[in-house]
Amino acid sequence: MTKVFVTGASGFIAQHIVKLLLESGYEVVGTVRSKEKGDALAKLVNNQNFQYVIVPDIGAYKAFDESLKQHNDVSYILHTASPFTYTTTHPEQDLIIPAIQGTRNILNAADTYAKQLKRLVITSSDAAIYSNVDERNNKLAFNEQSWNNIKYQDATVNAVTAYYGAKSFAEKSAWEFMEMKTPSFTLSAVNPSYVFGPQAYHCDPNHLNESNAIIGDLLNKHGNDTFENEVGGYIDVRDVAKAHVFAITNEDAANRRLFMNNGHFSVQMMLDIVNQKWPELNLIKGTPCSGPEDIKVLARVDNSATRKLLQWKFIDLETMVIDTVQQISSTKN
Ligand code: NAP
Repeated sequence: MTKVFVTGASGFIAQHIVKLLLESGYEVVGTVRSKEKGDALAKLVNNQNFQYVIVPDIGAYKAFDESLKQHNDVSYILHTASPFTYTTTHPEQDLIIPAIQGTRNILNAADTYAKQLKRLVITSSDAAIYSNVDERNNKLAFNEQSWNNIKYQDATVNAVTAYYGAKSFAEKSAWEFMEMKTPSFTLSAVNPSYVFGPQAYHCDPNHLNESNAIIGDLLNKHGNDTFENEVGGYIDVRDVAKAHVFAITNEDAANRRLFMNNGHFSVQMMLDIVNQKWPELNLIKGTPCSGPEDIKVLARVDNSATRKLLQWKFIDLETMVIDTVQQISSTKN
């Protein structure tokens, strides 16, 4: 069986990737931070072709060496592990350093030990494509060639800028590694916008990842509650997982960035979808139908090269929101 190594396997996106890989007939080795997390994941996955290895901190010195020495027969590596939070007060330490070091560590270990490796895919982000400021400048346009302009010394001003900076520093370091070392494997990057959607195996409404928590939080808004009307690009997690699996086997995905975006959303648009479908939830109304106006501030996105390569229709906002809410509601007590 073809063996695939997935870092951060307990994560929201990674669990979908693991599920899809197993359904596609691959053997999967996933890294997790602890035995507890590994055992819990193995129980959920419940598949003899899945096993886990423990990598407590991707940013630690030679973090992946032992596990890739042990699994030196992997054909593909998907590096999804990276911190994603907007709440830290130590952005350099918690976001930037692990993102960069984690990426360097996986590339170095792959080059040294994984001699049968054909492709390494890193989960980057649209945050590597534009800065959090430029994303909201409707005079600008971005595509698969674009990079944010955040400089290291400016990145630590707050957690959001640090996250955007971390994703471009980490992804750039991967492409630089490829140029300098010319290893025998090829590299692809997947650059998703905000990723939403149901969990692959199990939904704990009290522990949603950073992006899905936006939808989860909305479901607790009643009466005079207010909400932050966040805007941005969106993509369904099931499309993101498919893009990762596509990226490991498709020749044309080598040396490319897959910019995964299916349009823009505002939280008000999500609220309108939920209120229309489930009026009995009695959620706040906000300013219904203001969505098209909300998203006018956003820069234009051109990911036609990615869409042309992938050749499938991405899941729309309404389906994504409804499937997410349906799952969260069914697991709420
Ligand atoms: P997630 O659920 O938080 O998954 C992140 C994974 O990385 C978790 O398994 C986490 O482990 C692991 N991780 C983080 N820091 C680590 C460290 N220092 N050492 C070891 N493991 C570490 O988030 P996600 O949304 O699936 O994100 C996965 C990837 O997609 C990230 O690279 C993120 O930047 C990227 N991305 C996400 C979105 C989005 O909207 N969700 C959009 C664009 C790109 P623990 O949970 O055990 O800490």
